[in-house]
Amino acid sequence: MDKLREECGIIAVSQKKGVSENDIAQMAFMGLISLQHRGQESAGIAVSKDGVITCYKEKGLVTEVFNEKILSLLSGEQCLGHVKYSRQREAFMVNAQPMVIKYKYGSLAVAFNGALVNGGALREKMEDEGVIFATQNTSEILAALIARHDRGDIAKAVAAAMAEIKGGYTFAVMTGDKIVGARDPFGIRPMALGKVDGGYALASESCAFDRMNGVFVRDVRPGEILVIENEQVTSFCQGKPEPLAGCIFEYIYFANPDSTIDAENVYMSRERAGYILAKEAPVVADVVIGVPDSGSPAALGFSKGSGIPFTLGLIKNKYVGRTFIQPTQSQREASVRMKLNPVRPLVEGKRIVLVDDSIVRGTTMRHLIASLRNAGAAEVHLRISSPPVLNSCYYGVDTPDKNDLIANVMSSAEICEMLNANSLAHISLEGVLASLDASVEKSRYCTGCFNGQYPPVE
Ligand code: SF4
Repeated sequence: MDKLREECGIIAVSQKKGVSENDIAQMAFMGLISLQHRGQESAGIAVSKDGVITCYKEKGLVTEVFNEKILSLLSGEQCLGHVKYSRQREAFMVNAQPMVIKYKYGSLAVAFNGALVNGGALREKMEDEGVIFATQNTSEILAALIARHDRGDIAKAVAAAMAEIKGGYTFAVMTGDKIVGARDPFGIRPMALGKVDGGYALASESCAFDRMNGVFVRDVRPGEILVIENEQVTSFCQGKPEPLAGCIFEYIYFANPDSTIDAENVYMSRERAGYILAKEAPVVADVVIGVPDSGSPAALGFSKGSGIPFTLGLIKNKYVGRTFIQPTQSQREASVRMKLNPVRPLVEGKRIVLVDDSIVRGTTMRHLIASLRNAGAAEVHLRISSPPVLNSCYYGVDTPDKNDLIANVMSSAEICEMLNANSLAHISLEGVLASLDASVEKSRYCTGCFNGQYPPVE
């Protein structure tokens, strides 16, 4: 893994009865495609019609899992969709979501994004009490908690379950007649409310509403529980809301650039970060090149901030599969060559500023710089639009062990030498914070993986 990985994406839609019931799965499908970057291991859609929940989920990308025939079988008034990224140990089909359970009040489906810091303890306690789990999935723990607290009011049951869980998360629950969505008390993971034909939708990122032919309404607030039923949205907060502490890495790398999270447009923040980086770590060079795709907005910002022209010096092959096998060093190098190829006339003899969003282990970057040098680059100056990643994440992002984070075990000079770059600089944390709207409070972001300051979820 040479990038941190977001672990899941969620879509939930509730429409008035009789409004395009046959299209609701198609709508979720479009929404899930726009969230594909949040998870590529499995995809699933559950629909509820006249109180009966039907679910289809499989390993694979959204377009591999669903086709016209399958989607045509998924009709209803409510639907729940999920894309999942799995850690290696969890990559079994049984862990795909949504999770559907049957209990006293019928069926419910749960889709979860994030991580619970007390998930293991809750699971152990429930197992001691006789609960049997079929998966390693957090959504199953949550489903069991909600079912246990349900006395006929699903919103109250969700609130009671939320009072027991601790972590960074969003989730959506679908019953026979409504959708209930929730965001953790610090708003660490993102969730947005949108308006769609005949109803409302929830999504991990606002970009999904554009693909669903809907409109973004607002961000779900920290600790907020939304109930969507019959084209009505009601909302309340579980407990005392905490100050927002959204994951700052959403802006740096995870989220799609066309999303807006907590009133900040992701693309604009990335471009501003590049601009600030150019001021913080100037260099004499001929061209600025971004590592596609996530490094490109910051590279454009660096170009604006430095006056050095931006060029598309690296071309990405869109068709290299995510399962490209790389067991040996030479195959890993081949993988980088397959994915990113330098445009020789744009790099030959040039002093290059190469801009990327982050370095986690450094392996991909080393191969990339080697390929630029092979294409004739005279100098390669690496500029990174995030501070060094020094700590693991406990709130829903898959990070390597601390000892495998390159910035934790090597100095900047050593990393520069290992990567065979001419110079290396990261943006400061203050620089990243300045790239986000200066009119809002700076303490509203989680910055744990950079400085160890996590929201106090315990
Ligand atoms: Fe995001 Fe880092 Fe905080 Fe995890 S530790 S939530 S990756 S900012």
